[in-house]
Amino acid sequence: MGILTNIQRFSLNDGPGIRSTVFFKGCNLRCRWCHNPETLSARPQLLRYGQKCIGCGACVTACPTGSRSLSPEGLRYEEKTCTACGACADVCFSGALELCGREYSVDEVLGEVLQDKPYYEHSGGGVTLSGGEVLMQPAFACQLLRALKERGVSTAIETNFSFPFEEVIGPLLPWTDLWMVDIKLFDAQAHKRWTGGDNACILENLRRLAALGKPVIVRTPVIPGVNDAEAEIVPIAAFLKEIGSLQYYELLNFNPLGASKYDSLEMNNDFRDARPLPKERIEALADAARALGLQVKVG
Ligand code: SF4
Ligand code: SF4
Repeated sequence: MGILTNIQRFSLNDGPGIRSTVFFKGCNLRCRWCHNPETLSARPQLLRYGQKCIGCGACVTACPTGSRSLSPEGLRYEEKTCTACGACADVCFSGALELCGREYSVDEVLGEVLQDKPYYEHSGGGVTLSGGEVLMQPAFACQLLRALKERGVSTAIETNFSFPFEEVIGPLLPWTDLWMVDIKLFDAQAHKRWTGGDNACILENLRRLAALGKPVIVRTPVIPGVNDAEAEIVPIAAFLKEIGSLQYYELLNFNPLGASKYDSLEMNNDFRDARPLPKERIEALADAARALGLQVKVG
């Protein structure tokens, strides 16, 4: 079984062609700009959109653990005792509560994504595992990828790639057609500061993947004030000259859409006021990478 947040059908931005994207829950990095904060924790969680609450009290009655209660100040929520059973969300018809994450079996995922197999075949698409971080649940990922390949479906993984190559990445290689790997920052200290993780292992894993000739797309989410200068992008592009199996390099403009999710989890959002880069600015960064001879896309 695996813990997933969502299965999105007819997705066009997670690899070639028409795809279904399977979102895993849990991540080992803590990128400070993350636009999917609900995928950081590996456990199911209750998202709470207080502005939609009409104060009906149905969630209080439904909660078997007393984690929701009414007080003179309004509704209260006790995260420590919440088991993320979802009973409150089931009775909240205003949309103020949403359970994020639940267990899925491989067969359940297959039942969903195989419905679109003809579309994958006609468009050159397939199924992409994304997250969160797929490699946090390597056994489930491996079973799912293998089952997809055995049914003739093309597969891809979006990953931060900061995992041991032999133990975690190696077993997935036979079942993965395309790797989509992020390099967020090339400078090791800056990478540690902004994401909480080391990038030496990511770069070494990319070298090893390339040595095996495995197709890979490398992407950099461009974040205002973090890596939005040529000084950050050009060293990544220079490194990618070594990666012989690179399909292309992609710069992804900052996505501010996660703001309401931070609120729903009562999490601090350092990038609440940040906005995407102007088109001409991100194109200038792409041109700086193209000048090194790479094929570069802007997403
Ligand atoms: S069920 Fe929903 S709308 Fe009713 S009190 Fe609970 S959170 Fe508010
Ligand atoms: S998810 Fe379950 S335990 Fe948590 S507040 Fe809702 S009903 Fe209570």
